Amino acid sequence: MKSSSPLGLAFSIAFVITAFFAGILFLLNYIDFHTLWFPASVSLLIFFGLSFLIIYRILSRFLFEKIQPIYKTIHDFTATERELKRKVDQGDIISRINKEVEDWADKKTREIKKLKQLEKYRRDFLGNVSHELKTPIFNIQGYILTLLDGGIDDPKVNRLYLERTEKSINRMISIVEDLESISRLESGELKLKIAKFDIVKMAEDVFEMHDMRAKEKGIKLGFGVDKPKPVMVRADKQRIFDVLNNLIYNSITYGVKNGRTKLSFMDMGGNVLVDVTDNGIGIGEAEIPRIFERFYRTDKSRSRDQGGTGLGLSIVKHVIEAHKQTINVRSKINKGSSFMFTLEKA
Ligand code: ADP
Repeated sequence: MKSSSPLGLAFSIAFVITAFFAGILFLLNYIDFHTLWFPASVSLLIFFGLSFLIIYRILSRFLFEKIQPIYKTIHDFTATERELKRKVDQGDIISRINKEVEDWADKKTREIKKLKQLEKYRRDFLGNVSHELKTPIFNIQGYILTLLDGGIDDPKVNRLYLERTEKSINRMISIVEDLESISRLESGELKLKIAKFDIVKMAEDVFEMHDMRAKEKGIKLGFGVDKPKPVMVRADKQRIFDVLNNLIYNSITYGVKNGRTKLSFMDMGGNVLVDVTDNGIGIGEAEIPRIFERFYRTDKSRSRDQGGTGLGLSIVKHVIEAHKQTINVRSKINKGSSFMFTLEKA
């Protein structure tokens, strides 16, 4: 039995006291141990038993009073008095409590660190949102004030400023919609509706949607092979449409004049790898790890001019990760970029 359990400790102390007492009796010749060895031994045994019980009770009470506040703190006041008393009686209470306090302190340190990170994220996020919304709001205010100052009667100004106002409002709508998507994805509120569908067919629909924009820039949208066969996947159709839409939209936005965007699919056994490649302006090596962050833009003013919110890729990553799949990017400045993500094969 280890000495730091109250049982072991009480046993040792009672033994020492009994031995000491027996020694004194022996030395002072109070009892003739030769002739009265039996009643003497029984008396010493009873003495030992009684002192053990008294010492054990005192020690248990003492330890209980000491550990009660500690346990109530580290176990959030959930331990009952009975449980605590049982713990006191179990072996090596001191080392155990030491270990439990250390674990508790570690857990609290981790929790505090996480809370600080969340607090920083919340502050940055709010700062970014207000910064992003400020620009279109001030623009709208400027256009309206000019119109009110007489611009409304000037045919050169009125239509132009109203069109610019509409552009700023559309920008605010995009930001708010993206923010809504992000918050729903992050809160886990958004449940995936998994279904079987043909991703090649979906890609054709996305190409069609961006046809005008691509033509304006002379960008060719197409597949890696001439006539790709259907590729069936299991995923949330609407969310994956958003992913393809974002990646293809970006490939045009950050593409070069007369460039191209190519989509290819690779069978990876249980999964399909979808690859969206462009030969556009590319992304610097140092920026690649950050492009999936909310509001991150490689060239801030350029992306904003193009109407980007800096939230698109963050949404894309959330959607792919919600499917328990991965997304990667390979890119080189002035050469182009490839965004590759996996999906479960149906
Ligand atoms: P944005 O709304 O600004 O386009 P995204 O989150 O979609 O935001 O993209 C983040 C940044 O990553 C963009 O601002 C852009 O600088 C860079 N980026 C994204 N896609 C591409 C691409 N295909 N080619 C080059 N740069 C890209």
